Amino acid sequence: MSHFDVVVCGLGAMGSAALAHLARRGKRVLGFERHQPGHDRGSSHGLTRIILPMSRC
Ligand SMILES: Cc1cc2nc3c(=O)[nH]c(=O)nc-3n(C[C@H](O)[C@H](O)[C@H](O)COP(=O)(O)OP(=O)(O)OC[C@H]3O[C@@H](n4cnc5c(N)ncnc54)[C@H](O)[C@@H]3O)c2cc1C
Repeated sequence: MSHFDVVVCGLGAMGSAALAHLARRGKRVLGFERHQPGHDRGSSHGLTRIILPMSRC
């Protein structure tokens, strides 16, 4: 069985950033997302947001 230090449910801007920072600090992380990566159904999508996926910058 795998063990993780942190599990995040929801990989929008906040969840994916939290996992990335924790992984860089050596934590074993796991993320769950209900849609495909890069989907447009969360609060992080849209060209007016301050936080934009790299693909839209
Ligand atoms: C209409 C609107 C306009 C906005 N305008 C601005 C703006 O101009 N400037 C600005 O700075 N901010 C703006 N915001 C706010 C900003 O977009 C959000 O605060 C920020 O993107 C939220 O990021 P998040 O990662 O918390 O949420 P989200 O990006 O919504 O990520 C949550 C993720 O969780 C996933 N999820 C949800 N439930 C589950 C589940 N049960 N299991 C697995 N995955 C799940 C979703 O699919 C989604 O990917 C706006 C928000 C909205 C809604």
